[in-house]
Amino acid sequence: MPRSFDVVIIGGGPAGYVAAIRCAQLGLHTACIDGWRDPEGKPTLGGTCLNAGCIPSKALLHTAELYHLARTEFASHGIRTGELGIDVAAMQARKDKAVRKLTDGIASLFRANDVAWLQGHGRLLGGGEVEFTAHAHPEHHEVIGTRYVILASGSRPSRLDLAPVDGERIVDSHGALAFDGIPKRLGVIGAGVIGLELGSVWARLGAEVVLLEAQDSFLAFTDHQIAHDAFKQFNQQGLDIHLGARVVSTHATKKRVTVHYRHGEQEKELNVDRLVVAVGRTPLSEGLFAPESELLLDERGFVHVDEHCTTNLPGVYAIGDLVRGPMLAHKGSEEGMAVAESIATGREIRVRYDTVPAVIYTMPEIAWVGRTEQELRHAGVPVRTGMFPLAASGRARAMTEAPAGMVKIIAQAETDALLGVHMIGPMASEIIAEAVTAMTFSASSEDLARTIHAHPTLSEALHEAALALDGRPLHIAPRAASRKTASR
Ligand code: FAD
Ligand code: NAD
Repeated sequence: MPRSFDVVIIGGGPAGYVAAIRCAQLGLHTACIDGWRDPEGKPTLGGTCLNAGCIPSKALLHTAELYHLARTEFASHGIRTGELGIDVAAMQARKDKAVRKLTDGIASLFRANDVAWLQGHGRLLGGGEVEFTAHAHPEHHEVIGTRYVILASGSRPSRLDLAPVDGERIVDSHGALAFDGIPKRLGVIGAGVIGLELGSVWARLGAEVVLLEAQDSFLAFTDHQIAHDAFKQFNQQGLDIHLGARVVSTHATKKRVTVHYRHGEQEKELNVDRLVVAVGRTPLSEGLFAPESELLLDERGFVHVDEHCTTNLPGVYAIGDLVRGPMLAHKGSEEGMAVAESIATGREIRVRYDTVPAVIYTMPEIAWVGRTEQELRHAGVPVRTGMFPLAASGRARAMTEAPAGMVKIIAQAETDALLGVHMIGPMASEIIAEAVTAMTFSASSEDLARTIHAHPTLSEALHEAALALDGRPLHIAPRAASRKTASR
């Protein structure tokens, strides 16, 4: 008797495992097929995010930040230490332990919710059926019956033919999370989110880090004022970022990598111990569906979906990194919940794509929600902006001698509706949640200005930026903080 379920999900990352839990909560007989195995070959849930993305990178960033603070800031606080050292093996073991705890946690949530975890490869067949090949029996292909399929196979690092990953000298983000020592000189191709986060880890631990970025502008997708500030701060920290750098060739030997790149008219050479390729991620649709299924992809290889994550096939949905939109864990999870609820209720549940927050976990952190000033101006939307520098924040001063960073708020000039909030500074990843809540509830900047914030907190900067937008900041001179624009 072939097995059958109400819902089969292919992929157990933050999109797929959340969809599975929510489907099961809603009474659907649910299976989740996932193929990930840890370095020891043990099947593990959580996908890229838990095993080779969000969690391990933040674990290393935290260790690296503590070390950096001990080296550079402790003395100013009057803290004396003995000779400082870093044990990379212990740092990696702590990271691996955090990952294991969380991935085991998902396995126990599956048990608690009665989700069947099928360990192996899943493939969509024609007629809405799914083929499952267990890790344990690779020769046997089981056909599983199901009413609904949710595709959530995620993404993989994009490859660069000029810099083929060998896992030794030239690595992708997976390799850069697992270094067993601190490279003396580390090269990174791509100064995007991964390049900056992983570059920061190894720079804070003492590596000399050079980033080669093809684009002429830095973090082009962020608010220009924030990007400008970030570029300045990262350079001061020693991250050597070369914009407009086009890689021409790489050559790896046992000990080093030589990168030739073009900068304007000039040919340049960079010699590093290791090279990280961080040039984006590609949706993982290879082997995911049989040609006869007739699943439609878009021109960039993403599974084609509408705003409800419905594919061109009846009963088949796709979510997470596999589909359009930002490649973020929380965006995929939200889609997973929405699809589960749509299936269970028969109603189309919407995801609020306009309020998906984004964070870059550098030091300082960069966080934003909504649209940038340049996007809005380009679209001809009349806006008012308010800015508050952290140098004027009591809490930031209490934390560090020379606080850098800012909070910037953008509101529609006529209605005062919040359209974007952008920040750079410590704990921006946490403070942005308030802006997300405000925008989700369609708040105005005046709503934020009238919201009481505890003192002294970093979130007061958000309050002050809202006051500044209306020309009435309390802790900076008004004219420095707000600009009014009737139209473009
Ligand atoms: P994935 O997490 O990629 O999961 C897909 C799963 O499906 C995998 O387990 C895969 O093995 C499995 N699979 C694929 N094909 C099949 C198949 N045919 N059969 C069975 N199983 C299959 N995002 C954030 O929001 N915050 C962060 O701080 C953050 N940091 C990151 C740091 C790094 C270094 C990287 C690389 C990414 C980071 N991301 C972060 C991005 C985040 O990891 C992804 O957006 C997220 O994991 C996507 O979730 P997903 O469920 O769509 O796919
Ligand atoms: P990215 O798109 O953020 O950055 C890639 C960078 O590489 C871009 O700036 C691009 O211009 C540059 N580039 C591309 N080809 C190049 C070349 N040949 N030479 C030099 N530069 C080149 O992608 P990423 O940093 O690889 O991250 C992938 C995805 O993972 C992102 O979309 C992000 O959403 C997700 N992620 C999120 C977080 C987070 O939320 N904190 C952290 C890590 C990754």
